Amino acid sequence: MNKNATKAEEEWRKELTPEQFGVLREHGTEPAFTGKHHDRKEGGTYLCAGCKAELFSSVAKFDSGTGWPSFWAPKCKESIATQEDTSHFMKRTEVHCARCGGHLGHAFSDGPKPTGLRYCINSASLEFRKDQNDEEKDISR
Ligand code: FE
Repeated sequence: MNKNATKAEEEWRKELTPEQFGVLREHGTEPAFTGKHHDRKEGGTYLCAGCKAELFSSVAKFDSGTGWPSFWAPKCKESIATQEDTSHFMKRTEVHCARCGGHLGHAFSDGPKPTGLRYCINSASLEFRKDQNDEEKDISR
């Protein structure tokens, strides 16, 4: 893991909300349909709530019906990392932020095309940034 954005757990506890800390630092899972992003359909980018790394694009978001934000791919594959998770008597693929190590959710192989993957991510681990409009066109001439 890249240690650039790692911090002492006490620092994370001060910076994050209890919900964010519970997911990102303690591998918790928010109850389904309770998060702020599962039903979001706006165009934009989902950032790590811990270190603000760009993790997922709305382009790859889909409605999985699970009650958690679901994506068929990360924004770029270097931004996330995975490891085997055998807790709760299941064999799952855990997904975390490659930059700060924050736990995001799990990946499953029952997703839609084109990848067939389903990244099942906790809303609490993500921050949403809306896409900018055309207001930033060059006005210098
Ligand atoms: Fe992060």
